[in-house]
Order: sequence, then C-alpha cells, then structure tokens
Amino acid sequence: MAVRLGIPTVRDASAQEAAAALARRAAGAPTSGGLVDTFGRLGSDLRISLTDKCNLRCTYCMPAEGMQWMPQSSLLTPAEVRRLVSIAVSDLGVRELRLTGGEPLVRPDLEDIISGVRADHPRLPISITTNAVGLDRRAADLVSAGLDRINVSLDTVDAETYREMARRDRLAPVLRGIDAAWRAGLRPVKVNAVLMRGVNDDQADELLAFCLERGLELRFIEQMPLDGDHGWTRDGMVTAVEIRERIGSRWRLEPDDVPRDGAPAQRWIVRDPDSDVRLGRVGIIASVTEPFCGDCTRTRLTAEGRIRTCLFSHEEFDLLSLLRAGHSDAELAQVWRQATWLKPAAHGMDAPGLGGADYVQPDRSMSAIGG
Ligand code: SAM
Ligand code: SF4
Repeated sequence: MAVRLGIPTVRDASAQEAAAALARRAAGAPTSGGLVDTFGRLGSDLRISLTDKCNLRCTYCMPAEGMQWMPQSSLLTPAEVRRLVSIAVSDLGVRELRLTGGEPLVRPDLEDIISGVRADHPRLPISITTNAVGLDRRAADLVSAGLDRINVSLDTVDAETYREMARRDRLAPVLRGIDAAWRAGLRPVKVNAVLMRGVNDDQADELLAFCLERGLELRFIEQMPLDGDHGWTRDGMVTAVEIRERIGSRWRLEPDDVPRDGAPAQRWIVRDPDSDVRLGRVGIIASVTEPFCGDCTRTRLTAEGRIRTCLFSHEEFDLLSLLRAGHSDAELAQVWRQATWLKPAAHGMDAPGLGGADYVQPDRSMSAIGG
C-alpha cells in the first residue's frame, strides 16, 4: 500500500494550482446546491469512466494500436468511486449514475464498485454501457451487486461486419452477453448502434428487426468526431434524417410522446405497416445534426477522476488528486460546482463545414473520455 508523506506529488501540486486558477475563473459559481452552469443547466446525470482500456477496437472509437494507457495507479479505486458518487448525490443533487469506459467489464472489481455505491444509495439508478464481451459470466453477479440497467453496443448482427468494425471476432460472446442480461432481469436492455456509410448502414433494418424480436430497445447514435484515428468526415456520417428514412421505409414510425427529460434520443414507436401492431421502440441520437446541448444534464468523470463537463471538452479538472491530497467532501463538491459553472454552451459541431466551424476535436478518443 502506498504511504502518503504529505509531500505533494507533481499531480497533486498541479491539481492544487489548477484548483486555485479554477476558483478565480469561476468566481460567480454558487457555493451550495447542485451543479449549475451559467446557462442555467443542471448536471444531475453522472457518467463515470472506469478505465480507458478495452478488449475491442471499434474503428469509430479507438485506433487499431498505439494507445497510451492511463497508469493503473491513477485510476479511480472502488472506494474513490464510492466517495465521489456520495458527494455527487448527497451534496450536488445527482440523480443517476452510469458507469462506462473504455470497457467497464475489463475491471474485475466492477461488481465491488457497484455494490459499494448501492450500499450508500439504495434507490440511485445505476447503469452500465458495455460491449458485453464476457457479460454472460457476470450479468447475474452485477444484478446482485445492484445494477439496474444496461446499454449494450452492437452495430451489426453480421459476424463479418462485426469483425470489421470492432477489429475483433466477438459477435457470438456479445450475443450471449445480451441474452444473459435479459435472463438476469435487466430491463430495458438498450442497444447502442453506430452506422458507418458503406460498412453497416445497409444493415440498419436487420439490426432493428433483431432487436424488436427480442424486446431490446435500439438507439442509433450519429457517429461523432471522437475517433482515435481522426478519420471522421461529415459525408461519412449517416445522419439521423437518413436513419429515420431508411427504417421508416420498412416500418411505420410514430413519434413517442413520452417527454425526453434531457434524454438525448428522439424516440419512435415502431408499428407493422400492414397490421399497425406495435412492435417496440427505436431511438435516434442526433448528436451532430440536431444537438441537444441546451438540455444537457450530464456531468462526467474520467477514469483518472477528472471532471469533464462535456464529451467534447478541451478542459478537465483534476478532482482525484485533490481527493488523494486529503481535501474534504465540501471542498471537492465546490471544485465540481466551479468546473460546471464553466461548461460551454454547445460543442459547435452543428455549424457548417468539417465538424462544424467552431469544432475542434479533443485530444482524447471516445474510449478515454468515457462515452
Ligand atoms: N465499451 C463500452 C461500449 O462500447 O458500450 C462503453 C464505452 S463506449 C465509448 C460508449 C458508447 O460510445 C458506445 O455505445 C459506442 O458505440 C459509442 N461511441 C464510441 N465512439 C463513438 C463515436 N465516435 N460516435 C458515436 N458514438 C460512439
Ligand atoms: Fe471499446 Fe466501446 Fe470504444 Fe468499442 S466503443 S472500442 S467497445 S470503448
């Protein structure tokens, strides 16, 4: 076990300086209450990335090789996750938690992390976003630990296309993982899919049919310029309008009137075009072409315990070093409030031109930010 001698490490010292600079820049931030920004949005939905590592290499997310991994010692421990969630819930009004990554299942202590948070917050909704590799062996334990909901990423049900997109031949274990999540009683089981032009965009119908047959709720996500290869192009992205047209030519789509409440997906009830029988629901997340920044309720921590107010931020605020240097819950909560106060209005991707005139891709890829 590391012994702390009270001498600040480089990371501690720079975190202290950054915290002082943050306090000066966010002088107008509230000193009590929730995570409010200058545009009046409230951060109530916490996403914590547990690792930047992953057992897949999806082309829209990670490069094939050459990733620089975060050092193990800088990752949040189960006790640190537990403490930060408690600050978020008890002091800052956070109302739901999603654990993501990288791939959260590569953490062998994921069950401990969930059970620790669950012990403190019996009613907090806890979900994970996962690629489901290995989930078949862990779904029941995750539910016993306190997991409520799950989103599984599945872009295709064709094994060859899966191998091409994930750069790994893993469709079969993913499908077993989805079955196991269902058998373990997780509801709804949501499926996240990214369509890539010329790769799997012709398989949108097949994927939706697969999900409708199994009671899975599919959400298509527009591909965002957050890939490690920096290969995203506006023309290569399959837009929400195209997705709607594509699936709308096979099924009847009826807008779902359930209020979105900050949820990013536009939801549709899917009906059989002949009998009008309701078959299920589908969501489309138009992060690029119809951004929902004005309704954003997210606050994020990276696997190294840094606050990111937006997926597309260029700034992070190091909360974990302050926690490890012995700062109190009240002090950590205040740094979180100050960071949130500086949350930008929007990501700038929707402006015309490549990625939007105001958009500059962050250095970190999606896997290292926590999607
Ligand atoms: N490894 C887990 C998984 O894939 O579900 C969790 C992390 S992953 C970064 C979270 C979500 O981000 C996945 O649903 C994935 O499809 C999505 N994602 C990754 N890169 C993306 C991109 N460039 N644009 C849109 N969605 C992306
Ligand atoms: Fe891994 Fe998820 Fe990124 Fe795919 S999307 S490479 S599964 S982190």
